[in-house]
Amino acid sequence: MAPLPLQDEILLFEPVATQGEALSVVFAFPNQYSVGITSLGYQVVWATLARRADIDVSRLFTDGSEPLPSTMDVLGFSISWELDYVNLLTLLEQLNVPLKGCDRTADHPLVFGGGPVLTANPEPFADFFDVILLGDGETLLDDFVDALVELKSASRAETLRHLAQVPGIYVPALYAVTYDGPTGGVRAIEPIEADIPATVQKQTYRGNVLSASTVVTPHAAWENIYMVEVVRSCPEMCRFCLASYLTLPFRPASLEDSLMPAIEQGLAVTSRLGLLGASVTQHPEFDTLLDYLNRPQFDDVRVSLSSVRTNTVTPKLAATLTRHDSRSITIAIESGSERVRNIVNKKLATDDIEQAAVNAKAGGLSAMKLYGMAGVPGETMADLEQTVALLLRLKKAAPGLRLTFGCSTFVPKAHTPFQWYGVNKAAEKRLKYLQKHLRSQGIDFRPESYNWSVIQALISRGDRRLGAVLERVRHYGDTLGSYRRAFKEFQGQIPPLEYYVHADWELGQPLPWDHLLGPLPKVTLQKHFDSAGVDAIAV
Ligand code: SF4
Repeated sequence: MAPLPLQDEILLFEPVATQGEALSVVFAFPNQYSVGITSLGYQVVWATLARRADIDVSRLFTDGSEPLPSTMDVLGFSISWELDYVNLLTLLEQLNVPLKGCDRTADHPLVFGGGPVLTANPEPFADFFDVILLGDGETLLDDFVDALVELKSASRAETLRHLAQVPGIYVPALYAVTYDGPTGGVRAIEPIEADIPATVQKQTYRGNVLSASTVVTPHAAWENIYMVEVVRSCPEMCRFCLASYLTLPFRPASLEDSLMPAIEQGLAVTSRLGLLGASVTQHPEFDTLLDYLNRPQFDDVRVSLSSVRTNTVTPKLAATLTRHDSRSITIAIESGSERVRNIVNKKLATDDIEQAAVNAKAGGLSAMKLYGMAGVPGETMADLEQTVALLLRLKKAAPGLRLTFGCSTFVPKAHTPFQWYGVNKAAEKRLKYLQKHLRSQGIDFRPESYNWSVIQALISRGDRRLGAVLERVRHYGDTLGSYRRAFKEFQGQIPPLEYYVHADWELGQPLPWDHLLGPLPKVTLQKHFDSAGVDAIAV
């Protein structure tokens, strides 16, 4: 492994020298250094480990690592992107660690995972991990590490049983899944022993000091960026939205205790600031934050925002971004049709979208990116016509503002009210329809690959039986054709791809993640599903 460019890193925390018999931990991000080091979650977990005198942590990426220990006690992975499982398996092989937890012995490290992909639905990856951490690191990580340190001399089996008692720690091997026949759905998921908890509750941190970068480097995907988390979750609860439903409740960072001190610390070493969060402009004191950033001392700071809620695009926000070297703003509208936006619970009027474009231009921005979806449950062709009409309306309302429309296919996500809906096969054609009618009108239309959405849906609603498919597919390549080939080979042994991806699931059927509890109970999600009223709408 190549060494990491540590000489270029500026650390914003004090690593602690290890004392005594420290636990040796390799903490990996199964992608390149530039990608992994741009993940705020990865940075924060690594720094938490490096601050402990009882942990000796080394970082590992696919293209480089810190010097690795000759024997490692623990190997951790942060997974932010579904297809990184391919790199995860490759890294396990390179480290001579068996791919499956059931093949590991006392000679192997304990393999844990965390991050958004695993928190959403770990089941397709369950075979590859001994332990999966569900929820916010602030509450979970120290509990996990304390338990590991305490159990240092315990056997693997004893360690796993003990860890399964820690809230938020999921030990997949201690749960047995039964199915309605080889090609049927999940029948039940039950602990294999009476004293293992029947369910695992995702952990929620309720403090008002949120995360900030622990390292700044020119090798990050956004060169020298310093990131602060402005809010966690989103109060809007759009019915498809994992970023909202899986991380509820909505928590803004304290301006005085979290954001301002963090920004000051970061901007002492760089002039590039990223404000992160599912919906940053919904911070109750966002206006004060803008005033703070508009102080002369920050004049040369480049500020980037993740996507913002459309009706919060004010001329002041646009002017602040322009002043801080941003040319463009991103909003998610989901659809040009108000009816579809009502179905997904996006509380946004068409006039608000037009006003956002007008404000963006008035504030000096030169471009606006809009995001939407095709194939939303209940959507008809008339709704797509309205999307085209909306973009043309925006073009007229804010002449000269460069409009880009990025569009993906609706993908069901676990723990959201739309988890029961399959991917609409008509979405592929609908993306083509939008392409034809928008590009011909000079709108920059950027569709996300339909095939990629199918793969995402497969992983998003997969159960444990998918592990064998994933293991095989990685040798075939990452195209949808590779997945179809593997499903053919497993025909009769597991449900078809159609079942995972396209079928609408019955509200009453057991879900592969029923034993893993998110912020809201399943019955509430069912109510939110019902209130979308899609059944009454002709598709
Ligand atoms: S506004 Fe955006 S982040 Fe918030 S719930 Fe809706 S889609 Fe998710």
